[in-house]
Amino acid sequence: MGLYQRWRRLRLQGLQACRLHTAVVSTPPRWLAERLGLFEELWSAQVKRLASIAQKEPRTIKISLPGGQKIDAVAWNTTPYQLARQISSTLADTAVAAQVNGEPYDLERPLETDSDLRFLTFDSPEGKAVFWHSSTHVLGAAAEQFLGAVLCRGPSTEYGFYHDFFLGNGRCGTLVDLCQGPHLRHTGQIGGLKLLSNSSSLWRSSGAPETLQRVSGISFPTTELLRAWEAWREEAELRDHRRIGKEQELFFFHELSPGSCFFLPRGTRVYNALVAFIRAEYARRGFSEVKTPTLFSTKLWEQSGHWEHYQEDMFAVQPSGSDRPASSQSDDSTRHTTDILALKPMNCPAHCLMFAHRPRSWRELPLRLADFGALHRAEASGGLGGLTRLRCFQQDDAHIFCTTDQLEAEIQSCLDFLRSVYAVLGFSFRLALSTRPSGFLGDPCLWDQAEQVLQRALKEFGEPWDLNSGDGAFYGPKIDVHLHDALGRPHQCGTIQLDFQLPLRFDLQYKGKAGALERPVLIHRAVLGSVERLLGVLAESCGGKWPLWLSPFQVVVIPVGTEQEEYAREAQQSLRAAGLVSDLDADSGLTLSRRIRRAQLAHYNFQFVVGQKEQSKRTVNIRTRDNRRLGEWDLPEAVQRLVELQNMRVPNAEEIF
Ligand code: ZN
Repeated sequence: MGLYQRWRRLRLQGLQACRLHTAVVSTPPRWLAERLGLFEELWSAQVKRLASIAQKEPRTIKISLPGGQKIDAVAWNTTPYQLARQISSTLADTAVAAQVNGEPYDLERPLETDSDLRFLTFDSPEGKAVFWHSSTHVLGAAAEQFLGAVLCRGPSTEYGFYHDFFLGNGRCGTLVDLCQGPHLRHTGQIGGLKLLSNSSSLWRSSGAPETLQRVSGISFPTTELLRAWEAWREEAELRDHRRIGKEQELFFFHELSPGSCFFLPRGTRVYNALVAFIRAEYARRGFSEVKTPTLFSTKLWEQSGHWEHYQEDMFAVQPSGSDRPASSQSDDSTRHTTDILALKPMNCPAHCLMFAHRPRSWRELPLRLADFGALHRAEASGGLGGLTRLRCFQQDDAHIFCTTDQLEAEIQSCLDFLRSVYAVLGFSFRLALSTRPSGFLGDPCLWDQAEQVLQRALKEFGEPWDLNSGDGAFYGPKIDVHLHDALGRPHQCGTIQLDFQLPLRFDLQYKGKAGALERPVLIHRAVLGSVERLLGVLAESCGGKWPLWLSPFQVVVIPVGTEQEEYAREAQQSLRAAGLVSDLDADSGLTLSRRIRRAQLAHYNFQFVVGQKEQSKRTVNIRTRDNRRLGEWDLPEAVQRLVELQNMRVPNAEEIF
């Protein structure tokens, strides 16, 4: 097998282990030996190549620089770095890499032939990409060598870089619990984030380009960086004493679940808070929430086209007692294909049925139907990943049926919806318009019109957007939304998608102003996309420090001594009565400071400490999870203030209390 093929094979295996977060790793991973072997092989090939280059006759070549300047160089000898030094020492010091004939090129790699040469500095997006990418490898190599970590996903992002690690048995209990057994996977790490944010901020403050030069290849990160890693590991271990047994089911797949399920400590509370937020937006924006069944006859999926195009991704089911495989036709005349049912992978056909079940008038439009119904998709087991890709999930899915005249205003309000939700969640985002692909269905004039409407809406909206020509679905153009979490990592969540085909397939009509029947346009849209995936993104993004309004651990009441336990219970009760999540830590076996420390490690947003003085004055002494002391407050006032901050959905309740 050729080197290249072997490299590809290895690379693909590596990718699979990374991207899919299959974190079950024997120590040392078997592919490590193969990787090292391959490195040796490539290295000796490279040594030979360099030796043969040394034999070549020196030959003068022409190097063109941006702006038209041409410089002479010697083939197989002159490097981009040498040329940069000829031009200016500043350029040589700040160049991260070169681009030769449009291809990325190492500064130290000799030029081979007449070429166009450009230098990439950290100021350019390409330079940043090279720098962040190399940084990921340095970080990964250091983690591998110094921590014995096994590398998982770790791309660079628009704003920096990160690496997910698996730290192995006993080194990070949470992950061990999550990662043992072939069916358990994780989405990344709550704990890992601390490491990453530590390292990347240290990285940035350490003068990035010089650091990279110093550490790339041979030498490794500063002791400062390593100390940060050590500190993180100790903290993670400390935290695990608390987690093990109590929170070991942070995220996992269960082998007995036909789809998949997840357990987050008090995950339902986080989930419900998020859904309540979207429901409040629905109410404000004129959406009606509907519930449609989970199971439908395959007849419906035939009509919608899913059976033809999407069948392999659907779960077909049949009544028990039947021995006929769900996908095959039956000869038994008492059984029809209506006996075969399929779990819905999308809500749209059901919403089309709702639209079509009685005559509609233009007065009812736009009709906005929202549905949190469970969706099932038959993802391959290898494709499942933490909360990010599940077989059963819910979307903040809605379908808007409107007239063509209403389209632009509807698209604009969809965009506005996105912006206000992402602002609260602390996400930035980037929009892209995807236009008709080759092989599109429908009337080209209709497409032209729709694409123009989307463009106008995007321009009006005022945020930057990209054009992805030819990237739309065959049934309509769309606006894709890429959001960036707090670490700058991109995720695809929301979408706004026009559909000309489903209204046709379901023969949807309404009575227009003039009395004639007309066909509505359908918009599919989601802001969060999969609620589960978004929870994963949020969990990683906030590193387990949930904002108050989403937090599963809002307040813990800590009595100083056993005499205050009853008053503490009362305080806990008034918090609960106000709809806040509150716990009591009356563990008299631990000192007060240990209990406060424990609450802070558990990321309770607030601690209410009550001693004798607080009891007699009916007050509480408040601290935050970052150990800010907010002092003594009347109990009802403190509760009231928390409710206010919760309702405002602020990201920093602890700071502005
Ligand atoms: Zn849809």
